Amino acid sequence: MTAESLVQTTFIIAALLFILALAGLSRHESARMGNLAGMVGMTLAGVATVGYALTHSQRGIPLTLVLLVVPLLIGSAIGLWLALRVQMTGMPQLIAMLHSFVGLAAVLVGFSSFLDTAASTGGSETAHLVEVGVGVLIGAYTFTGSVVAYGKLSGRLAGRPLMLPGRTWLNLGAFLASVAAIVWLVMAPHGQGLWPLGLVTLLGFALGWHMVSSIGGGDMPVVVSMLNSWSGWAAAAAGFMLGNDLLIVTGALVGSSGAILSYLMCKAMNRSFISVILGGFGEGATVSGVDRDYGEHREVSASEVAALLRDAQSVVITPGYGMAVAQAQYPVAELTRQLRARGIKVRFGIHPVAGRLPGHMNVLLAEAKVPYDIVLEMDEINDDFSDTDVVLVIGANDTVNPAALDEPDSPIAGMPVLEVWKAETVVVFKRSMNAGYAGVQNPLFFRENTVMLFGDAKDRVTDITAAL
Ligand code: NDP
Repeated sequence: MTAESLVQTTFIIAALLFILALAGLSRHESARMGNLAGMVGMTLAGVATVGYALTHSQRGIPLTLVLLVVPLLIGSAIGLWLALRVQMTGMPQLIAMLHSFVGLAAVLVGFSSFLDTAASTGGSETAHLVEVGVGVLIGAYTFTGSVVAYGKLSGRLAGRPLMLPGRTWLNLGAFLASVAAIVWLVMAPHGQGLWPLGLVTLLGFALGWHMVSSIGGGDMPVVVSMLNSWSGWAAAAAGFMLGNDLLIVTGALVGSSGAILSYLMCKAMNRSFISVILGGFGEGATVSGVDRDYGEHREVSASEVAALLRDAQSVVITPGYGMAVAQAQYPVAELTRQLRARGIKVRFGIHPVAGRLPGHMNVLLAEAKVPYDIVLEMDEINDDFSDTDVVLVIGANDTVNPAALDEPDSPIAGMPVLEVWKAETVVVFKRSMNAGYAGVQNPLFFRENTVMLFGDAKDRVTDITAAL
């Protein structure tokens, strides 16, 4: 077997392992296997890439090794440092930032591929220039879009959607101008396309910035998965420019799985995929309800909640972002064990956008060893709330907000929610009366069958377990 075919075979094995990883990650039970397959695939891909660079080296093996290994070590060190430091609650913005790097890498590959035609696929000049133009456009869009998403998720930028007048026309105009600039790039005399390529880059930057800025707080889950998808397409575009099959396959896998996830998120939020992508969904629906008078709320103590639970036969727990902030998953798992040991039926109801990452709550509950079979999706549990004695809303807010169904002028109007208020008693765990991520007041807190248990969710759940 020649070195070249060994490299290609390793690429194929790595691509198969990435497919296995995606399949594994789609179910709790196989997620570990999926992660392992992804890690082995990535290691093989890294080794094969070094092999590929060495077999195609035009600068001599020692220099190629230095050019590969030094950035690899620097990047790995920064990645390791960030991964060790990041809190679970900081993951969404870290992921947004990582997507921005993929976008920027695609832009840089595009420029280098343009400047150094030797790095191109060897196809006809026209095809190569189209690859460069499209790759740079997607990369630039992904870069600024991800930077804005990072700003919004980390609270450095306002979560409210930017509502420029005629924004859809602005987007359409910028898109058509980008197509025209790519045509200019292709038509320009050999090697003289830097101006149109620069224009494509600027238009991509502007489009990414504007489109993600136009998307409102509650719709951010769709943006995160959409940028995930775009980062995949940017990688695939880089693969075309470099003539690297593995990068094309991997990018297409990330791009298509991200697109499927975005579609599922839109379905879960009852949003039109197109209107979220075009930005500014929910225009005019800006009444947050914060100033509306919903009446008085009632407070309870942990021992009163323990008494309620002792008398209950059926309990549903609906966790949200606050459970992640408090790291309350372990005490919640312990409380679940104790209640089940008393013969009480305990189940979890998970909203598709609870927390700040797709699957966020499932990961936390799995970490705390809550059995998978009692963790149900929103659609599976929503009809059961009317037969439930006690619902424990642990750090969830937007995902249990009845305003989504009752108030057409609410920014979250139309989003399906966990209909917890249908249960006999609802206990809401939070630290204050503050609104959730979408900045919308929650009328649930003022309902007659709702009681508020204030304080850090981890402390309060521990208090209840002690009082049981
Ligand atoms: P929310 O973000 O709506 O609310 C979380 C609640 O937790 C807050 O009301 C907060 O109240 C409470 N809380 C925070 N810290 C603690 C603590 N230590 N102890 C107790 N309570 C605490 O949560 P949901 O999960 O219901 O909704 C998720 C929201 O995030 C949705 O709007 C969704 O669109 C959005 N989003 C989701 C993403 C995803 O991919 N899943 C990505 C980006 C955004 P208080 O401050 O009073 O304690």
